[in-house]
Amino acid sequence: VALTKEDIIRLVDEEGVQFIRMQFTDIFGQMKNVAITADQLGKALRGEIMIDGSSIEGFVRIEESDQYLHPDLSTFAILPWRPQYGRVARLICDVYNPDGLPFVGDPRQVLKTQLKRASDMGFTFYAGPECEFFLFQTDDHGKPTNQTTDNAGYFDLGPLDQGESTRREICLNLEEMGFEIEASHHEVAKGQHEIDFKYAEALTAADNIMTFKLAVKTIAQMNGLHATFMPKPVAGEAGSGMHVNMSLFHDGKNAFYDESDPMGISQLARHFIAGLLAHVQGFTAITNPLVNSYKRLVPGYEAPCYLAWSAGNRSALVRIPTPRGNATRVELRSPDPACNPYLTLAVCLAAGLDGIEQQLSLPEEINENVYSFTPQQLKDRHIDKLPATLDGALTALTQDQVVQDALGTHITEQYIAGKRREWEAYRSQVSQWELDQYLVSF
Ligand code: GLN
Ligand code: MG
Ligand code: MG
Ligand code: MG
Repeated sequence: VALTKEDIIRLVDEEGVQFIRMQFTDIFGQMKNVAITADQLGKALRGEIMIDGSSIEGFVRIEESDQYLHPDLSTFAILPWRPQYGRVARLICDVYNPDGLPFVGDPRQVLKTQLKRASDMGFTFYAGPECEFFLFQTDDHGKPTNQTTDNAGYFDLGPLDQGESTRREICLNLEEMGFEIEASHHEVAKGQHEIDFKYAEALTAADNIMTFKLAVKTIAQMNGLHATFMPKPVAGEAGSGMHVNMSLFHDGKNAFYDESDPMGISQLARHFIAGLLAHVQGFTAITNPLVNSYKRLVPGYEAPCYLAWSAGNRSALVRIPTPRGNATRVELRSPDPACNPYLTLAVCLAAGLDGIEQQLSLPEEINENVYSFTPQQLKDRHIDKLPATLDGALTALTQDQVVQDALGTHITEQYIAGKRREWEAYRSQVSQWELDQYLVSF
């Protein structure tokens, strides 16, 4: 909805809003905010709220630290889980430099740049994420654990599903914020859930993912549970993915659909998928940002590990769900919910558009379960692998100019530097697994 400054001033007054949270996201996907009182609203709407960019990881150096928040008026929403007296609203903001130009390190800006590129080609980019997460117990001191007393599995219902009432509350709160919840269900692992909300134009979709994660964590906490989007919190159980469904529209029509094609998908969709496959290794460090992300990308848990596409096969990296017509879409199954959604959608779009521009051709469809392929079969059929570690993914990113161009020099450098530190810290740890394997035998 298009809101004017006057609308917001009126809403704040009418709804009894006392605090406004000015939100933005750092390059590693953490939401940040500064709260202002309603008295400061005029200043906020003029883009005069200042932040110290040097205190935010990956933003700017100390010598050039003043930055300004420019609220996106269409994102005004009241946080339904906050007190109803002295209510709290939020505005999602873009980050600007003192010279009045958008800050190159703002992930939302990176996505906007790719969306502009798509719109110059005549396309609107839609995205629909499927966020999975775990609800765990907290211990006697209120500290998060990775334990659950839940015993349910895929699509089970209560009373087996102890997270059910929490999940219901999450859905109700999100609906109050204007989300259209399409489905919510228990996932495969004990304590694991999924909530799907309606696809949207990509900038809104990314904003929605950030809002979603905040709502899930907050409402879980209010129910004495700990919600986590950590990709693989329990070894030997399914991890949490964030499948991303994508489509391009042209003149109000889904450009991925082609009635006359045997599979019902257009040549454009084929180029787009080919672009995803060509750059997925280069953008995996963005879609799968943690050391832990790579423990999800192993065979056997419906998470991809090989570069294959298929119409139906859930072991493939890219799938084309059954619906056609305006619902025709490509599902990328590798991203996980720890990613920065702005950067994730930006690099996916950049990869797809590159496939279109280069007219890349699609390799053969793989309909078998790729998890069961031998190394020789993978080789014979030219099936490549996703990076197996964060280290490998960072190296692949340094070799992909298309992905780096989409991120821009600033974010590419800051991101790689930050993630290399994370990898180095991890690599020097000695884990329980190593002690169990080696301490006695050697
Ligand atoms: N949890 C699986 C993943 O890691 C997906 C399971 C599903 O949605 N079918 O991607
Ligand atoms: Mg799903
Ligand atoms: Mg799922
Ligand atoms: Mg899915």
